[in-house]
Amino acid sequence: MFASLSSRVAALGVTVVIAVAGLAGLLVDAARQTRDSFLWVEHSAIVLEITSEAVADLRDAESGQRGFVLTHNPVYASSFASAIADAETKIRRVIALTRDNAVQNARAREIADLMAQRIVFLRQPLDRGRRGDFVGALAIISSGRGRELMDQLSVRTRAFLDQERILQGTRQAAAEQRLTIGKWSAVIGAAFVVLLMLVGMSLLVRAIRRPLDTMLKAMTDLGDGEHTRIETAMGSSEFTRLARGYNTMADRLAMAVADQAGSEQRLQVANSSLEKTAATLRERGDVIELLGGMAHRMQAARTDDELAQIIRVFAPRVLPGIPGALYAHNNSRNLLVPVADWGDLETAVDSFAPDQCWALRRGQAHWVAYPGHDIVCAHVQHPETYHCEPLLAGGEVIGVLHLRGQIGAESRFRLTVLAENIASALVNHRLQRSLREQTIRDPLTGLFNRRYMEEAMTLEIARAARSGAPLSLVMCDVDHFKRFNDDHGHEAGDAVLQAVAAEMKSRFRDGDVVCRFGGEEFTVIAPGTSSEALLTRVEAVRQAIAELNIHQNGRTLGATSMSFGIASWHEAMARDGSSLIQAADAALYQAKREGRNRATISTMAA
Ligand code: GH3
Ligand code: MG
Ligand code: MG
Repeated sequence: MFASLSSRVAALGVTVVIAVAGLAGLLVDAARQTRDSFLWVEHSAIVLEITSEAVADLRDAESGQRGFVLTHNPVYASSFASAIADAETKIRRVIALTRDNAVQNARAREIADLMAQRIVFLRQPLDRGRRGDFVGALAIISSGRGRELMDQLSVRTRAFLDQERILQGTRQAAAEQRLTIGKWSAVIGAAFVVLLMLVGMSLLVRAIRRPLDTMLKAMTDLGDGEHTRIETAMGSSEFTRLARGYNTMADRLAMAVADQAGSEQRLQVANSSLEKTAATLRERGDVIELLGGMAHRMQAARTDDELAQIIRVFAPRVLPGIPGALYAHNNSRNLLVPVADWGDLETAVDSFAPDQCWALRRGQAHWVAYPGHDIVCAHVQHPETYHCEPLLAGGEVIGVLHLRGQIGAESRFRLTVLAENIASALVNHRLQRSLREQTIRDPLTGLFNRRYMEEAMTLEIARAARSGAPLSLVMCDVDHFKRFNDDHGHEAGDAVLQAVAAEMKSRFRDGDVVCRFGGEEFTVIAPGTSSEALLTRVEAVRQAIAELNIHQNGRTLGATSMSFGIASWHEAMARDGSSLIQAADAALYQAKREGRNRATISTMAA
C-alpha cells in the first residue's frame, strides 16, 4: 500500500494533518468547555449578586416605608416604588437565571413569593400613612407579620445563597480542572504530533538514505570500473525503479565495455596477424630476392661445376643451418648423381637409383621427423632426421634435395621456392647445354663440329702463342670410304663414321678436341703436344681403327683404315689456324699417296 515514497510522504502528511486537526479540535473543545465552566462560575456570581441586590432593594423599601410612617416625611417614601420594582425585577431575573437548576429555581421562586408577600405588607402601612392614618400604619408594622416574613425571607435567601456559593465553588473547581486538562491535552497532543512527525520523517529519511547509499556505492564502484549490480531490496518503488534502471545501464555498460575489449582484442589479433603477415611477406620477399640472385647466376652458369658452386653458396643462405645435397637425374635417368652439397652432410652418398628415394617414388616430399617416424629412404645411410624434397619441372621429377634435420613450418616456404628455383635452373641449364651442344656437336658422331673446331683452334693458337707450349693438329680421312657407301649403302657408311668417331673419342686425351671436319674427315686439336709426341698416340688410334670389325644390322661391313696427317703450329703460321690445317692436310695427302692406313708428319717448312 505504501510501496512508493510519495505515498508514504502523503500518508505522513495526512497523518500529521489529522493529528494536528485532532489536537486543534481537542484544544478548541477544551477551551470551549473551560470557557463554559467559567461562565457558569460567573453565572453563579451574578445570581449571588442579583439575589443580594434584590434583598437589599427590599430592605431599602422597608427602611423608606418605616421612615415615612415614623417621621411622616413623604421623602422617605419617595424611592419606595422604584426599590420595590427593582427588587421584583431582580428576583424575576434570579428565577430566570436558575432555570437550569430545579432546586435553586424552586428556592428562588419561594424567595420571590416571600418577597411578594412582604411587599404587600409594606404597602399597607404606606398606603394608610399616605392617607394620614399613621396609627393604623404603625399598628400593621407592630403586628410583627412583616418581621416574620422578613425573617423567613432572610432564612430562605441565606439557604439559597449558600447553595449558590457551593455551586459556584464546584463550578470554579470544574473550570480549573478543565483548564488543566486543556493545558495537558495541548502539551501531550503537541508532543504526540511532534513525535509522529519525527518518527515519520526518520522513517522517510531512512527509506531514502539507505537505497541512496546503495545507489551511490554502486555508482562509485561503476565509476571505478567494477561491474556492480544492485540486488538488495530498495524498500520503495521509486528506488526499485531507479535500481532497475541502474542495473540495465550497468549491464549495457558492461556489455559495451566487453564489446570494446573484444573489439580491441580482435583488433590486436588482427594487427599482430597483419604484422606477422607483413613480417612473413618481408621475409618471403627477402628469400625471393635472394633466390632471384641465385637464379640469375645459375642462368649465366656455363658448366655443371659453376652450377654446383652457386648452389653451394646460396642453399645455406636460404636454409641456414640445414646441411644438404642436391641430386639430379643423369642423362639416362637411371641414377641420381650428386650435383652439389653444403653444410656438414656426413650421410651424402655418391649416387643412387630413383627407387631408393621415397620422395622420388611418390613425387612428393618425404621426411623422417625422428627415427621410427616414417620409412627411411634406402639412399640414407644412417637413419636420422632428414627431408627429401623432389625437384619437379613440367610435371617431371628431375632430381631431389636431400636435407638433414627437420624443416619447420616457417622454413617450408623457403624450401619450396628453393626447390622450384633449383629445378627450373637445372632444366634451364640443361636446355642451354643441349642447345649449345647442338650448335657445336655433329649429330651423327657426337664429336665437335667444324665450326667449334675453328673456334677452339683460334683459342688454342692464342694460348700456345702466349705460353709457347706446343700445339699440334691431326687431320685424318677414312680410306676408300666411298666403297662402304657403294657396297653397303649410305647407312652403313654412317655406321662406319660412328664407329671410327667413337674409337677416336676414346683414344685421344681428355684435353684433345676431336672434331668431325666434314664428310669422312676428322681433326684432332692436341694442345701441349708436339707432332712427334702425338705420332705415337695417332699410331695407336690408327692401329685400333684398322682392327675394327664393324657390324651393321648383323652384317659385317669389313675392315676399314684411316690415313693421318700431323702438323704443329709455329709462330710463322696464321693465327686463325688456316696454315696449320693446310699443313696437316698436306701431310694427310702425303699419307694417302704413300698407300693409305698410315700417319705422316708435315714436312712443311716454317
Ligand atoms: P680415299 O681413300 O681417297 O679417301 O677415297 P674415298 O672414297 O674415301 O674418297 P672420296 O672423297 O672419293 O669419297 C668420299 C665419300 O664419302 C663421298 C661421299 O659420298 C661420302 N660421304 C661424305 N659424307 C658422308 C656421310 O656423312 N655419310 C656417308 N655415308 N657418306 C659420306
Ligand atoms: Mg675424303
Ligand atoms: Mg676418304
